[in-house]
Amino acid sequence: MSDCLFCRIVAGEIPAKIVRRSADAVAFSDINPQAPVHVLVIPTAHIAAVRAAGGPDGERLLARTLTFAAEVARELGLDGGGYRIVTNTGPDAGQSVDHLHFHLLGGRKLRWPPG
Ligand code: AMP
Ligand code: ZN
Repeated sequence: MSDCLFCRIVAGEIPAKIVRRSADAVAFSDINPQAPVHVLVIPTAHIAAVRAAGGPDGERLLARTLTFAAEVARELGLDGGGYRIVTNTGPDAGQSVDHLHFHLLGGRKLRWPPG
């Protein structure tokens, strides 16, 4: 989707600080970090949000993206202190980019519950 910000980051059309790539996912630094580590982990395939991930293909995509997020967290040294992976879905959650993304947050004590 050429009008999707995150598809354009995947395609290299918009610059981003890429942390890691796999065959089907990309991790890059959030432009407005909310923690010492704030990385967005996205599938390279366009899917609007977690609620749009149905069927075996959706299950595979979610599993692979989350597994990749955990690998990125380990690589960034977050396993010891821990971290949070969260995805906002729809307007009540404040989703502002309609391409599924997991926020990987860590490097400080995180409050609960979120806002
Ligand atoms: P959400 O509000 O859950 O949809 O998250 C969207 C996230 O994308 C926010 O945390 C933004 O700071 C982040 N963001 C928006 N534009 C960019 C960009 N060009 N590069 C990196 N992160 C971005
Ligand atoms: Zn997209």
